[in-house]
Amino acid sequence: MGIKKIGIIGAGTMGTGIAQVAATAGFDVLLHDVEEDFLQKSLVRLDKSLSKLIEKGKIEGDKDAILGRIQTTTDLDNFKDVDFAVEAVFEDFGVKTKVLKKLDKILPPGIILTSNTSSISITRLAALTSRPAQFMGMHFMNPVPLMKLVELIKGIATDQETFDQVKSLTEALGKVPVESNDFPGFIANRILLPMINEAVYATMEGVGSVEAIDTVMKLGMNHPMGPLALADLIGLDVCLHIMEVLYDGFKDPKYRPCPLLRKMVDAGYLGRKSGKGFYDYSS
Ligand code: NAD
Repeated sequence: MGIKKIGIIGAGTMGTGIAQVAATAGFDVLLHDVEEDFLQKSLVRLDKSLSKLIEKGKIEGDKDAILGRIQTTTDLDNFKDVDFAVEAVFEDFGVKTKVLKKLDKILPPGIILTSNTSSISITRLAALTSRPAQFMGMHFMNPVPLMKLVELIKGIATDQETFDQVKSLTEALGKVPVESNDFPGFIANRILLPMINEAVYATMEGVGSVEAIDTVMKLGMNHPMGPLALADLIGLDVCLHIMEVLYDGFKDPKYRPCPLLRKMVDAGYLGRKSGKGFYDYSS
């Protein structure tokens, strides 16, 4: 495969998780963010997460050796010697445009560039670069160290060799790759979010209480979490955004976001991160 050093742009929730998984699998990692402080916070989270997983016996390896494989930088120019890159900055087309255009100039030709976007068209992102054939989606799930799945999304121009390499890398990271084509929401969010949205409609219409709806899905369908608890975990603003992407992308009324979801986001009830969503997390 020839990939030894993986460059990751964005040291937030996902970038930190991807760095952890890559370093644990033996790859060298270069992790970038805009401020040194964000990188230091990411390293603290990484240290804690690795300690927990090693203590529980979920991963093998020496924590210091794993952390020793991770370098950090606020200077994107240092990406000129990475063998592979994953972009995991904010889910904002403007921010991604700036980062991808700059990175495309720094990465040597032929180096594969991927995006962890949950909802932006891979074809549209690829078109910002000079390497659409070597560009694709690599959609890790949160929390990255625990979730096995990675959706691999081909843009319209992605070539087969790129796909095969990213598939091998995904397996080398200990993950299970699933191929998806580039349509709004890919596979995971195309199916998950309409289910969550329907659960919000059922709440709004009084079909059942929040607890009743979640209990039906947990005990009746064997889902590990109810859809409303899951919405709180994902963030109601993120759920609304993805429903809007599906609705805009397909122009099909079945994807219209539930008015209650919009109202809760307007009120600042974003789920766990704001302390209130369908459940109360203030204590
Ligand atoms: P986050 O807000 O936790 O982290 C984003 C990071 O990007 C921040 O640390 C921020 O400082 C950094 N950043 C912003 N602008 C930058 C720039 N110009 N250059 C370098 N770094 C920059 O977000 P996240 O949840 O980690 O999401 C990142 C990506 O992963 C998004 O595209 C999101 O859609 C996708 N994703 C998120 C989840 C999830 O559950 N959180 C799951 C799958 C995919």
